[in-house]
Amino acid sequence: MIRPFNFSGLPSRVLFGSGTIANVAQEIRNLGGQRAFVISTAGRLQQASMLCVQLHGMLAGSFPGAVMHTPADVTERALEELTEVRGDCLVAIGGGSAIGLSKALALRTDLPQLVLPTTYAGSEATSILGETTAGQKTTLRDARVLPETVIYDVNLTLELPDQVTATSGLNAMAHAVEALYAQDRNPLISTLACRALDLLVAGLPELRRTPRDQQVRGDVLYAAWLCGLSLHSVGMSLHHKVCHVLGGAFQLPHAETHAVMLPYSVQYNEAAVPDLLAPLAYATQRQSAAQGLYALGQTLAIPRGLKAIGMAYDSLDRAASLITEKPYWNPTLVSYEPIRAMLEHAWHGTAP
Ligand code: NAD
Repeated sequence: MIRPFNFSGLPSRVLFGSGTIANVAQEIRNLGGQRAFVISTAGRLQQASMLCVQLHGMLAGSFPGAVMHTPADVTERALEELTEVRGDCLVAIGGGSAIGLSKALALRTDLPQLVLPTTYAGSEATSILGETTAGQKTTLRDARVLPETVIYDVNLTLELPDQVTATSGLNAMAHAVEALYAQDRNPLISTLACRALDLLVAGLPELRRTPRDQQVRGDVLYAAWLCGLSLHSVGMSLHHKVCHVLGGAFQLPHAETHAVMLPYSVQYNEAAVPDLLAPLAYATQRQSAAQGLYALGQTLAIPRGLKAIGMAYDSLDRAASLITEKPYWNPTLVSYEPIRAMLEHAWHGTAP
């Protein structure tokens, strides 16, 4: 029998394909924009510059200074430039860092956003914004930060390096995994999440062999959208809390932290919700979803354990305290001793 659920519709206008970047000017006009402000990280400068050339008469200015975790001082600088050039539409090209800055500017100005994602992080599909002020990361949900238009252009992802492909792909997976056992889960999002997991389990290893394969890149980018929709639509649990703490308080890199932690947070929950995680165990052809995720991480050569991504061993006690102080809803009780044990396991990076 279907559990009772509430559902509020899917967000944003989405264009998906190869070469879809050609539609940017028209889509800006559809949003009522005439003076685009283009946002990127320094690493995506070349793609951003090509976009600026394409926009010529509609370009107000650009800001290639986005960085991870959306620090407030960077947002303030970008806001000054945006105001000075009188931009009336935000256009972000890049991963979650560029999109995060666009969202932070939209929160402050209510300008419309058009975003072109080039990783699999999934931020483009959510009304969630994480910002860092004085080293503290806080997360909010606000309709103003949801991008109005998302243009997925598979061509933009063909050069994505192996490491970013793997870690941001597993970051996407984390959204779908936690959607499966969310307290407010619903059958539509569970269906999308299962489809996304199947595509990622098949596609990510394939991309290690053939990174420029258009079809597989397309499958994985589509899966990333489904994962973003999952993150937008239902509440996240222990895994996202752990990554939030490790990124915010210990400056661990975002996607790598998700990639390393996922098998361990799933192991923490699997005994409580084995039926809900069964599709993932099945997709990975392992006895348990946690083992399947660990094996996938090995295939993708992600860093081995928290110790490999900069977590100091003597910070594990404090991390366990922060995770258990104000836990998110989770299918398994979140308490200090088992969480500390989970972190110990994840730090060493041994099989669950
Ligand atoms: P990122 O945007 O920092 O990109 C990672 C690296 O990949 C960067 O060096 C970038 O220059 C490079 N890169 C991006 N696209 C590329 C391409 N096509 N080819 C070659 N190199 C490319 O990292 P990310 O993992 O996409 O995003 C992480 C950020 O997103 C974090 O700040 C995180 O908090 C945020 N995030 C937010 C949400 C949300 O819903 N609010 C969801 C997921 C992630």
